[in-house]
Amino acid sequence: MVVEAETLIVYGDIYLRHLTGLDHPESPGRLLAIMRGLKRFKLLERPEIEVEEPEKARLRDLYLVHSVDYVRLVEDFCLKGGGILGTWGSGVVCCRESFEVALYAVGGVLKAVDDVMDGRFRNSIALIRPPGHHASRDLPYGFCLFNNIAIAAKHLLKRRGVRRVFILDIDAHHGNGTQEVFEEDPRVLYVSFHQDRIFPGTGGIGDVGRGEGEGFKMNFPLPPYTNEQVYLKALEEVVEPILRQFKPDYILVSAGFDAHYLDPLTGLGLSSIGYGMIYGWIRYVAEELTGGMFTAVLEGGYDEEALSTAVPSAIAAMAGLKIEVEDRVQRMPKYLEEAALGVLEEVKKVMAKYWDI
Ligand SMILES: [Zn+2]
Repeated sequence: MVVEAETLIVYGDIYLRHLTGLDHPESPGRLLAIMRGLKRFKLLERPEIEVEEPEKARLRDLYLVHSVDYVRLVEDFCLKGGGILGTWGSGVVCCRESFEVALYAVGGVLKAVDDVMDGRFRNSIALIRPPGHHASRDLPYGFCLFNNIAIAAKHLLKRRGVRRVFILDIDAHHGNGTQEVFEEDPRVLYVSFHQDRIFPGTGGIGDVGRGEGEGFKMNFPLPPYTNEQVYLKALEEVVEPILRQFKPDYILVSAGFDAHYLDPLTGLGLSSIGYGMIYGWIRYVAEELTGGMFTAVLEGGYDEEALSTAVPSAIAAMAGLKIEVEDRVQRMPKYLEEAALGVLEEVKKVMAKYWDI
């Protein structure tokens, strides 16, 4: 089969219908800002990039990760008009249509993965809402209802003959739900870069997985202001050698854009240029390890200006295109840079128990 285009973007206006109320950071405006950015950089006109509508997931897709009772609870709660679902303080705001939209979020990610697996595209990104990486089997959490990326990984392992999946989570928050789902599973190498000591508080250096999954979970809890130079050093010097030993058949990316220095919820220091560099690295390792196949799944990212440049920068890198991004790499205060490099050394030491590094 001939590849139709380099990069598939899965997007639909259905994702604007998950309404979270005024002043909620996880708003439909996020996706509008991304689409505006893609148009501004004229990326949607490029033959290397294709946009397609999502499909709706089936209930049995959700059951790959979530319990029947939990799925029913979310559906009933939304159909009764919505409100705040979940534990006090970290509940997820839902409207009547949120369950339906969440089905399209899962379906959009599965389409993004299947169209790459089927050879139609080399890589893909699902620009979806609501996000997913905080949701666990029976619990909504941190703006997330269903764990889109965990469902995609299970789908690949169970239905598409994939043996090993690498999940790279570069959202500024630890993907506690994703790690929990695969905590004891050695088929999934989960690597997270997140800001230390912020929500949800999980993802310490020592959280390496349990049972057969021990050594297959890797966490970089980073200090504020951490910039792309540190990310790339960690990716190249710590993650890459382990990846070559793990030999993934597919790569999934929890594509958070809240590590951008403008983000109002977090304090990390990536620039839009840095996002392009990180996605360039992903494209490069995918080339070697999976024949180029990977799928990015939108998670957080709450500053509209940052979204409108960081996402185009990432997508251009995915498609192998060069665009002029007007942003500046941030300098780190010396003591924080040293702290960040200390985290890398610490992770390396912990991982040396399991991998040749
Ligand atoms: Zn986040």
